[in-house]
Amino acid sequence: MIAIAIDGPAGAGKSTIARMAAKELGFIYVDTGALYRTIGVAVSRTGTDTENEKDLKALLDKINIELAFEDGVQKVILDGEDVSEAIRTPDASMMASKVSAIPMVRESLLDLQRNLATKNNVIMDGRDIGTVILPDAQVKIFLTASPEVRAKRRYDELLAKGKNVSFDEVLSDMILRDKNDSEREIAPLKPAPDSVLADTSDDNLEEAISRVVSIIKDKLGI
Ligand code: C5P
Repeated sequence: MIAIAIDGPAGAGKSTIARMAAKELGFIYVDTGALYRTIGVAVSRTGTDTENEKDLKALLDKINIELAFEDGVQKVILDGEDVSEAIRTPDASMMASKVSAIPMVRESLLDLQRNLATKNNVIMDGRDIGTVILPDAQVKIFLTASPEVRAKRRYDELLAKGKNVSFDEVLSDMILRDKNDSEREIAPLKPAPDSVLADTSDDNLEEAISRVVSIIKDKLGI
């Protein structure tokens, strides 16, 4: 099986680029942020105190998270409910960042992620795919762009979905999330030593996709 790890901060274009690249290569695309978002939503809905280890463990033991793939599009199912849309709110983003710093939460998602990569050729995106989840991935890419460029992309995405947000709010959320993700003790956001760095600040979408696809083809020799 072939595994391609794409890590990087929020809004670097990981999901769009990885999805298109996966389509081109015939791999499945796994968006691991969706898993942390789903746990964030479960915590919010149940009002679980994440500082209380016993309560958090009880919640993690009780919930069932599955990924389904329809025409190459990933759906995330929480206890039988398709929450793919519900996890895309700014609140779910912040909750995801909060719960993702808790070791027990990361542990609970480890097998699910690794099992997908043992059964399928995958492009998996996240923060720790090349460093922790799939350290033997054949290709590792660290995708980044300046915070302003990333916030603008995320802002445009939210506007297109009819969400009512301000640019400043999106930018400050993004800077805070980068800080949480990079400074946490467990699986912090950082490039794997053997990753290829790709800065997409000056790229449009097509340029970013072709940059990533050529890194992949080059590494795989295809
Ligand atoms: O990628 P996305 O923005 O959907 O991720 C939401 C949050 O989930 C991130 O801010 C990060 O805190 C967390 N995450 C993580 N490890 C991953 C993927 C996401 O900690 N592999």
